[in-house]
Amino acid sequence: MNDAASPLAGKVALVTGASRGIGRAIAARLARSGAAVVVNYATDERSAADLVAEIRGTGDGDAIAVRADVACDADVVHLFEAAIARYGRLDIVVVNAGYAYFAPLAETPLDEFDRMFAVNTRGAFLCLRQAARQIGDGGRIVCISTIGTVLNGPGGACYFGSKAAIEQFCRVLAHELGPRRITVNVVSPGFTDTDMLIATGGKEPAAAAWIDGLTPLGRLGRPAEIANAVHFLVNAEGAWVNRQNLAVDGGIVSR
Ligand code: NAP
Repeated sequence: MNDAASPLAGKVALVTGASRGIGRAIAARLARSGAAVVVNYATDERSAADLVAEIRGTGDGDAIAVRADVACDADVVHLFEAAIARYGRLDIVVVNAGYAYFAPLAETPLDEFDRMFAVNTRGAFLCLRQAARQIGDGGRIVCISTIGTVLNGPGGACYFGSKAAIEQFCRVLAHELGPRRITVNVVSPGFTDTDMLIATGGKEPAAAAWIDGLTPLGRLGRPAEIANAVHFLVNAEGAWVNRQNLAVDGGIVSR
């Protein structure tokens, strides 16, 4: 079946960091459109298992959960091998897993710098490398960055730096994979209501007021709203959109 309700029927999608937050919403959205989904997680096995059960519980849906630390090459190889072993193909890869720590650069502990560059930058490199090797012709790759690489707010130097690198990876990778009709795009969320926003202080009263004032639409984004943008890019309607960085942020950033 490949009707309007199931435009991704027969497709296989792999989403990193899909146990919670934005990744979870993306995995659920792609599954609702008929894709079989590989739900990657690092630590939260229960949430990943819940999502798989939710997807399998909705009629035709299928999903598997695969634990892999995206910063570990052996884990990433295993993640992609598990996808191919289970479904025999790979059509869509969403590089979403991320970690953020905000502090002035002068006060950023080295281990926090290392963790951001391990998960965000090295993790994206390892996943994009496997995606380039394993994804089928005509496939779709989407990387999740942040509007912070344009906004440049104080306290985000290392986090934004770790994400700016992946935007550059994507600009070049799109050239390399174009001959195989594979598109590579970036989606840059604004302030989105997830555990990460809470962990980085984004729901503290002063920060929340600053965010609302900065956002023309005057509220936080919802994970499902980021997922809708990814859904567009990986569907037939998004086929001609390539090498772009799409801000999904209620209007903060305008390119
Ligand atoms: P979140 O709620 O903190 O969820 C993070 C997800 O990443 C979890 O599923 C977590 O898995 C996974 N993860 C973390 N480290 C991992 C690793 N080493 N290997 C594999 N998976 C790992 O974050 P979020 O807000 O949904 O963020 C998703 C993406 O959007 C990130 O790339 C983030 O930088 C970006 N973003 C978020 C915002 C925002 O306001 N929330 C704004 C701009 C950009 P476990 O649950 O298993 O630990």
